[in-house]
Amino acid sequence: MLKDSHIKALSDIVGSENIYSDKAHLIAYSYDATRTRYEPEAVVFPRDENDISAILKYCNENQIIITPRGAGSGFTGGALPANGGIILGMEKHMKRILEIDMENMVAVVQPGVINKDLQRAVEALGLFYPPDPASEEYSTLGGNVSENAGGMRAAKYGITKDYVMALRVVLPNGDIIRAGKRTIKDVAGYNITGILIASEGTLGVLSEITLKLLPKPKFVKSYMGVFPTVKDAMNAVFKSLAAGANPVAMEFLDSLVVQALKEKLGVELPSGAGALLIGDVDGNVSQEVEFQLEILRESFIANGATDFKIADEKKDRDALWYARRNASQSITIFGSKKLNEDISVPRSKLPIALEKIYAIGTKYGFKVPCFGHAGDGNIHVNVMVDGKDEKQLSNGHRAIEEIFQMVVDMGGTLSGEHGIGLSKAPFMDIAFNESERALFSAVKKAFDPNNILNPSKMGL
Ligand SMILES: Cc1cc2nc3c(=O)[nH]c(=O)nc-3n(C[C@H](O)[C@H](O)[C@H](O)COP(=O)(O)OP(=O)(O)OC[C@H]3O[C@@H](n4cnc5c(N)ncnc54)[C@H](O)[C@@H]3O)c2cc1C
Repeated sequence: MLKDSHIKALSDIVGSENIYSDKAHLIAYSYDATRTRYEPEAVVFPRDENDISAILKYCNENQIIITPRGAGSGFTGGALPANGGIILGMEKHMKRILEIDMENMVAVVQPGVINKDLQRAVEALGLFYPPDPASEEYSTLGGNVSENAGGMRAAKYGITKDYVMALRVVLPNGDIIRAGKRTIKDVAGYNITGILIASEGTLGVLSEITLKLLPKPKFVKSYMGVFPTVKDAMNAVFKSLAAGANPVAMEFLDSLVVQALKEKLGVELPSGAGALLIGDVDGNVSQEVEFQLEILRESFIANGATDFKIADEKKDRDALWYARRNASQSITIFGSKKLNEDISVPRSKLPIALEKIYAIGTKYGFKVPCFGHAGDGNIHVNVMVDGKDEKQLSNGHRAIEEIFQMVVDMGGTLSGEHGIGLSKAPFMDIAFNESERALFSAVKKAFDPNNILNPSKMGL
């Protein structure tokens, strides 16, 4: 329980204008994108790394729980103060791009920088930061690193972890450490950067992030493959990639999602399709782009596609991406609550995984619209239920558990990009054995012996 003396001490560190403890703000900071609510006892905005260090040291000495928070767009409750204590908010002050090093193609940022702001800043200089979660306009780079966010361009360019070169991190006792270097190669010592990526704010607070940049590709076109069935589309995914296609993105929409996009948002998409694959190809010469499109066309048609369309005009490309980016919000026509999971399987298992997911939905009587990053084997599975119907909710959770078990049995994972947080914590024992979970606890204890940093997340 936070005492007045604690609020006073924290105000002395950051200034009274950088701490909220009034009811309205506590409610405002009690949510993330899961829409589950846990109220903090105060929200504190550090102005710099020294503030973070002083706050953590004080909280550690006084057993005050801290939940780091970027934009609160997480889908698994990572930024929710499930055990009370304070929210450590990065969005107010910690949002400067500190450096863009053109010669080494590296950017150094504070953790509260919005993903898209970095993309825009580096693109103005001819460079490119590929990780582009659908939440790019509001999610922060600190949140992206802490969840190891993926995005639409992961099929070709990888995910956040592939771009994190170095971190500055404040440990729960207030000590400041550096992990990683601004070098291409670095094999000195344990890979602490790797442990911190996707650690969901449970080990330390990121205070500075060094990210790799690439040259911006000069030519981009979009494509859409139209398939009669999901199975055909899923076969086309891994077979086209194995045949040498190297698309920037290969995104999947099933027929329920297509129906929802048409009905809810009036999006123009082909009628009667069982599934669509859409994406981009890019290159530094136009021939490279045309070559990639040709490989995709051939593979898609060989795997049952009834149509292959190319969008080269910006307005046509934007229309395709509008459909993909709005898939998540359109499917609410099928139920007031979506139990939304982001499973990931080896790509060759996609056809059988999708078949089993729909069969589990049918068994429980739920619609299960699916979409997502098929090129990475990462699919957003949405079990649609009536949120006010307790029986449906409990059956929905049983359906999710069956899906997780099936995915893990075929060599897949509980989460491709949204993390474990609170909502998937109950399923950790499906994916990890006792020894593996004990190792996670030992790592947590080594960083945070007093368990003040984001406890209960990831089942820790
Ligand atoms: C519409 C929508 C679309 C989305 N699309 C995608 C997508 O395509 N790909 C994807 O991967 N995700 C996606 N997400 C999920 C979410 O945007 C990502 O997980 C994102 O990385 C979270 O960033 P955030 O700034 O909102 O972090 P928050 O939600 O605030 O926090 C996430 C976690 O990071 C920790 N954290 C935040 N900052 C720090 C810090 N400085 N130090 C230590 N820990 C910290 C928090 O404690 C928490 O555990 C989407 C979400 C929405 C709402």
